[in-house]
Amino acid sequence: MATAGAPTPELPGHDAPETAYVDEEIVACDGGIGALGHPRVFLNMEGKGFVDCPYCDKRFILNEGAGGGGH
Ligand SMILES: [Zn+2]
Repeated sequence: MATAGAPTPELPGHDAPETAYVDEEIVACDGGIGALGHPRVFLNMEGKGFVDCPYCDKRFILNEGAGGGGH
């Protein structure tokens, strides 16, 4: 599923079709609204600070200082 790569990957060079900044390492993606949607999946950044959705290639990036903010 995931492409093999370096143990500490950097941000891929290609342009993601869409990016979203989030406050948690684990995010859920369902591709958005409408025909572009896909089954909801949970993505874990696993300390990398970002993760790309394998379905729609949307990139989720962890906000700096995430976890310390108020609600
Ligand atoms: Zn997605």
